[in-house]
Amino acid sequence: MKAIRIHEFGGPEVLRYEGIPDPKPRKDQVLVRVKACAMNHLDLWVRKGLPGVKLPHILGSDIAGEIVEVGEYVTGFKAGQRVLIAPMHFCNHCAKCVAGLQNQCPEFTVLGHMVDGGDCELVAVPAVNVIPFPDKLDFIQAASVSLVFLTAWHMLVGRAGIRQGQTVLVLGGGSGVGIAAIQIAKLFHAYVITTAGDETKLEKARALGADHGINHYKQKISEEVRRITNNAGADIVVEHVGTATWEESMKSLKPTGTIVTCGATTGSNAGFDLRFLFSRQLSLLGSYMGTMGELYEVLGHVFAGRVKPVVDRTFPLKEARAAHEYMEASQMFGKVVLIP
Ligand SMILES: [Zn+2]
Repeated sequence: MKAIRIHEFGGPEVLRYEGIPDPKPRKDQVLVRVKACAMNHLDLWVRKGLPGVKLPHILGSDIAGEIVEVGEYVTGFKAGQRVLIAPMHFCNHCAKCVAGLQNQCPEFTVLGHMVDGGDCELVAVPAVNVIPFPDKLDFIQAASVSLVFLTAWHMLVGRAGIRQGQTVLVLGGGSGVGIAAIQIAKLFHAYVITTAGDETKLEKARALGADHGINHYKQKISEEVRRITNNAGADIVVEHVGTATWEESMKSLKPTGTIVTCGATTGSNAGFDLRFLFSRQLSLLGSYMGTMGELYEVLGHVFAGRVKPVVDRTFPLKEARAAHEYMEASQMFGKVVLIP
């Protein structure tokens, strides 16, 4: 089969489109022909070099495709079924996994991070990862859901415990997690404020349900949040930007408010005054991916059409380098998807 692999870490030039042996499914696995694999910022970080990545390595986390072959021990699936693949690897037998807390499994990692991913033509994955999706979604849309919607669901629902009618500030409303978080917060009838660096992205974020948009280059986020909320502040801030916004995120919270973070795109150092944290009784929560149960929960809303994946554009798999360069320029609104 053909695959995009890296043999060394570096810029987009290290991506190689090459022929490699087809994967052989184990008896508990399903072989899937990849029809679409959506990109995430994780692809860029893995390509640039993350500890624990073994080379050569196949990138790509968010896979949708068609079942080719079903292992002897697998029941309930058949060849030809359209499926998406839960974008995570876990052991499925430790105490955390059997309790349904897959993202706490000692072996947990994201597909395409510490294990090979889906930027290729065929993947073999355990049957537990395989999820059929309804006809109204095409492969490109189906590939655009899992990682960002699961991440945003775990942040807002699993970690921050969002309640109806709260005020939620979603940083980076044009990002994958931002697009998902805006829509999930609206499911809970939240008042949603979001930020972006240009008016076009803010307009698109409002079309997804955001009640108010802040241009973070022209306006000070916390001042604008205070103005919009009559000085009350936000109940929850969805963070993934890091150093560039952390202080503003904390200042945007109301007393007893919560910041939940899943990333640090602009840097991982954040300084703050501990007196501000305790006197205002703030909560700072970390969040990483989510559980299989949460994935099924949020997919239920996607399949019912209550929240929707947003696709920016597609590239042929062999043009992965151009796709990486496009993503690094940050001009997209929604998912960039590779098509084998
Ligand atoms: Zn486990």
